[in-house]
Amino acid sequence: MTQMNITDKPIRIAIIANGKYQSKRIASKIFNVLRDDPDFYLSKKNPDVVITIGGDGMLLSAFHMYEKELDTVRFVGIHTGHLGFYTDYRDFEVDKLIDTLRQDQGDSISYPILKVKVTLDDGRVYRSRALNEATVKRIEKTMVADVMINKVKFERFRGDGILVSTPTGSTAYNKSLGGAVLHPTIEALQMTEISSINNRVFRTLGSSLIIPKDDRIVLVPKRLGTYTVSIDNKTYHHKNIAKVEFYISNHKIHFVSTPSHTSFWARVKDAFIGDLDS
Ligand code: NAP
Repeated sequence: MTQMNITDKPIRIAIIANGKYQSKRIASKIFNVLRDDPDFYLSKKNPDVVITIGGDGMLLSAFHMYEKELDTVRFVGIHTGHLGFYTDYRDFEVDKLIDTLRQDQGDSISYPILKVKVTLDDGRVYRSRALNEATVKRIEKTMVADVMINKVKFERFRGDGILVSTPTGSTAYNKSLGGAVLHPTIEALQMTEISSINNRVFRTLGSSLIIPKDDRIVLVPKRLGTYTVSIDNKTYHHKNIAKVEFYISNHKIHFVSTPSHTSFWARVKDAFIGDLDS
């Protein structure tokens, strides 16, 4: 757990809600309570704390809204459905969240994020940060790409594409592809294949790989054409990619450390296994 600088100034709070009626209702309840409290200042500009209301998808969007301010912003989420992976509070626990913010000492829980650098054949470079994952797929035909891990030419991949996830993203798209669930305190990336072709001629490892903190994955497409690079909930189209590099960012995402912070394994059980007694 780390601690952010806490001063006597009011805590600047941004409230970000998705379009659902229930989320908007909770947003206005929080707004009405905090706006008259001198310990808080409501502003979407340079917030200290971002409260998201919706689901994990809403937190992903808020992450990208504030991705350039990650070192100074902490996030806390309210889920308007089931217990989420990025959300500590449910919709009926708004008062509990407000109490937590009143007693806040600046403590945070931090998790690694992914840095992606796309270099095109003409030299143009696009850099992004992902909270869940990044994928690279080829549009027209089978993707053929060399996978390098720390300059070792590891394999020649043929198939739909490659996904690289963060530890917190391991329970999202990565898991649907058969990737492992990684505890978010493990500073590692996971590379998972998307429908690789494996037969007597073409071979890839087949299982997903856990890559440690300082290692770098580089994907070198072997064919010209249009590729999609998805970063969490956004997709970009690029022509003629020279290489795509994946590594753990120097920055992390910080969450408000709350008494409601549920064990990661309880969240995994709640999301994927359910009640054992039924
Ligand atoms: P979305 O439809 O809102 O999100 C898809 C689902 O993924 C939602 O149920 C969302 O939970 C859940 N989710 C998001 N982050 C998660 C995490 N870290 N662990 C477990 N579940 C998580 O779509 P979106 O807003 O565009 O979100 C994009 C994300 O969808 C991507 O980052 C990717 O991980 C995921 N996705 C999954 C698949 C797949 O599983 N086949 C395919 C494409 C994309 P909430 O309901 O709480 O929001």
